[in-house]
Amino acid sequence: MAEDGARREVDLTPDCQACAALCCVLLPFDAGDAFAFDKPAAVACRHLDGHACRIHADLATRGFAGCQRYNCHGAGQRVTQEVFAGRSWRTEPGLLAAMDRAFRAMRRLHEDHGLLTAARTLPLTDAEEAERLALLARLDAATSQTEASLIAYDTGPLPRAVKAFLEALRLRLRSRQ
Ligand code: SF4
Repeated sequence: MAEDGARREVDLTPDCQACAALCCVLLPFDAGDAFAFDKPAAVACRHLDGHACRIHADLATRGFAGCQRYNCHGAGQRVTQEVFAGRSWRTEPGLLAAMDRAFRAMRRLHEDHGLLTAARTLPLTDAEEAERLALLARLDAATSQTEASLIAYDTGPLPRAVKAFLEALRLRLRSRQ
């Protein structure tokens, strides 16, 4: 298995205590098996109390299995603490749109990071391993904890490059079976 050297470790585990409840305000959901009522995007869930969920211990029995299944890949706390220095839409509602843009970009970036990191366990060629590490380095450079760097990443070519690499890898490995 290849190592990822001295690259910065990115924590992909959600830390809701350090987050401004971003998924609970930014994301929409529809009433159904996973959610008990409709909620539009950019509207705080009615079960939120500050940044905490009042029914967190009972999500499944209260009809919110979708909340239990959701995974921000560690984007929430990182946007809150690193990009916005602990500030929140709660006390500064004008931040909501900017937090939304940063959260979407960071979530995608962390998801890509996780996929590229997991790919190190695959039987990669030397060229594929070199490309994997190069893409990870570009992701690291993109996440310099500023809103501008995240937006530049999200609207730039890097997400497509990661997707193309992973898709080509998937097809090559499938052709070996
Ligand atoms: S965005 Fe992530 S860290 Fe924040 S509350 Fe949701 S799951 Fe937790």
